Amino acid sequence: MKITHSFLKNKCDIGGCANTAEYIISNGEDSKRHGLYFCPECLKTIYLELAKLYTPKSPKNKLNKNIKSEILEIFKNGAK
Ligand SMILES: [Zn+2]
Repeated sequence: MKITHSFLKNKCDIGGCANTAEYIISNGEDSKRHGLYFCPECLKTIYLELAKLYTPKSPKNKLNKNIKSEILEIFKNGAK
């Protein structure tokens, strides 16, 4: 998926929204024809709603996970 700017004057694809679309979300192939068109307000709302579903892992947890996997590798392969 990728998000590109739309220079066309399409209406936003969200039902009930009459704004002009400025962004296209597509699978990268022929985005103008197969993409979904969103105005900035609807795109921001989608972003905020997605953030409720997908919480990024904190860098600290990721760091700890990397350290744990390194320690497991040392146990597995033996200290050098
Ligand atoms: Zn909209």
